[in-house]
Amino acid sequence: MTTSNDLHNQLHRLDGQSYGAYKALRGEYDFGNFALHIDHVQGDPFAAPSRVRVVVPQVVAGFPKSLWELPCRAIALADYLTREFDQATQSVQRTSGSGKSGLIGIVHPSQTMLNRSAARVTGEVVELRFTVGLPAFGRRIAGRQAAELLCRSVPELVKHTLIYGSLDGGKIQHHADTAEDAEALRSQLPAHNLVAFVADGAILPRRSGVDDRPLADQAIPFESPKSLRVTLRCPHGGEIIGMGIPQGITLIVGGGYHGKSTLLRAIEMGVYNHVPGDGRQQVVTVSAAVKVRAEDGRSIAGVDISPFIGSLPQGKSTQNFSTPNASGSTSQAANIIEAIEAGATALLVDEDTSATNFMIRDRRMQALIAKDREPITPFIDKVRQLFTDYGISTVLVMGGSGDYFDVADTVIAMDEFCPQDVTERAKAIAAEFKTERDREGGQAFGSLTPRIIQPDSIDPSQGNRSVKLRARDVDQLQIGAEAIDLSAVDQLVESGQVRAIAAAIVYAQRYHMTTKSPLAEAIAAVIADIDQYGLDCLSEGPMGDLACFRSLELAATINRLRTLKTTTLTSQTAAPQPANPKPA
Ligand code: ADP
Ligand code: MG
Repeated sequence: MTTSNDLHNQLHRLDGQSYGAYKALRGEYDFGNFALHIDHVQGDPFAAPSRVRVVVPQVVAGFPKSLWELPCRAIALADYLTREFDQATQSVQRTSGSGKSGLIGIVHPSQTMLNRSAARVTGEVVELRFTVGLPAFGRRIAGRQAAELLCRSVPELVKHTLIYGSLDGGKIQHHADTAEDAEALRSQLPAHNLVAFVADGAILPRRSGVDDRPLADQAIPFESPKSLRVTLRCPHGGEIIGMGIPQGITLIVGGGYHGKSTLLRAIEMGVYNHVPGDGRQQVVTVSAAVKVRAEDGRSIAGVDISPFIGSLPQGKSTQNFSTPNASGSTSQAANIIEAIEAGATALLVDEDTSATNFMIRDRRMQALIAKDREPITPFIDKVRQLFTDYGISTVLVMGGSGDYFDVADTVIAMDEFCPQDVTERAKAIAAEFKTERDREGGQAFGSLTPRIIQPDSIDPSQGNRSVKLRARDVDQLQIGAEAIDLSAVDQLVESGQVRAIAAAIVYAQRYHMTTKSPLAEAIAAVIADIDQYGLDCLSEGPMGDLACFRSLELAATINRLRTLKTTTLTSQTAAPQPANPKPA
């Protein structure tokens, strides 16, 4: 095999040549203690930097089995190493040159520990993927700088961040223990009939709307009200006391600015494991909990929103509802139906991001606008049926309408960031002041119709490229010529998830979307492949910038594609209707 010495000499020989000659570097190099793989070489100094990998045998890296044997601990360890490497690259002296010369970069993790393609730890190897800007002066190869970068800086980084002996073993263990404890807490939720758990002492508020780290000084730690107090056990932290949010319908009420949305946001994020120091490490939520909100302007393709929206003006069907420009209420209805289709077991709703006419319709409005003039059946009349018919719980922030007291199982009041159980009082008030509303929800929630995506309604090509994907942040994705707005998909936390989702859509279309398979089945097949083969199955070569995502966010992204066309099994099997039926 080519050695690091060979690489060193080759780089010196390349010095001064035109940048394209770097292409010859692709390959694997033996550095003694590890292997360096150069997987992709950038075309010019300003292009996306070159993709490389280091693979250190576990016999050299020496991470104890206890850190990688359990999948959640291996992910935590990989997460830790990614953060260490990210930190360490800051102190590497950058070589001079044009464009991205000398830049070493790795994905920047959020506050969560996601399974990412950037790092992987097994019994055999520790692998880390990152990028390097191959140095140039103008468009000429800076060979000596490149040798410095690849043959000196990279081995230094490996030595300091991927070898167990040079790291803080206690900190790593705490990182892994934290993840394992969160998993343990989450796994106990169903047995306790809970949808979420918020540990006492948790720090929920964040530093700012654009900084997801915990609020530093003035944060008031979470303290559970006695009546909702639950004790869960976890393997490292022992007994953890906190507030259990029961299955069923839970209202979070309270004055403005008293911490309602902050609590809900922590619950939304509770589907992920958090890093130590985040403050939400012991806030856990059932893994299929979905935040749903209004999103006017989104497109909708063939969704049966009839449980919420009856016949629309001009006789527009709502059993197979499509629009390029949804209203607040129809978008929120579609978001809920789509979440259920994708397997949601709990809905998380905040009044701040809901359509008022979707949430409530009070006695006076019922009197003024008759039921037959109002297509919307408000959520208040459906939320109970969602639970009784389909077992789907709802956690709802609702400071603006006491009408919901009638349908709630649990009412939590946030008072100066402190939760109180006010269920009894809310029920007494509901008995004393009747809303006198007419119930509009009917006997049952209504049926759900699984959709089939027409595979050819997804076109990832652009110009002469058969697949063109672009995802730079968590809010936007481009597939082929189509931009998808993800700003209302609130539980995406890293751009790597969006990149992986983009690749997964192409993968799903190629391998799992048929004209017969419902969307949920196609998505389940993709997730099963990722579980079995890893994120690498989504890309042609090894990529370092992908992160795992839930089936729910994959579905949400597909559903927002504006070219999407759908059918249903029943519409396929129904006998074709003659265009002009003969009179009998
Ligand atoms: P609400 O939804 O009830 O109107 P928010 O949840 O938006 O209120 O919180 C209002 C403000 O209070 C936010 O700036 C938030 O960061 C801050 N905050 C929330 N919880 C706490 C807490 N436990 N300690 C300190 N500040 C908090
Ligand atoms: Mg709020």
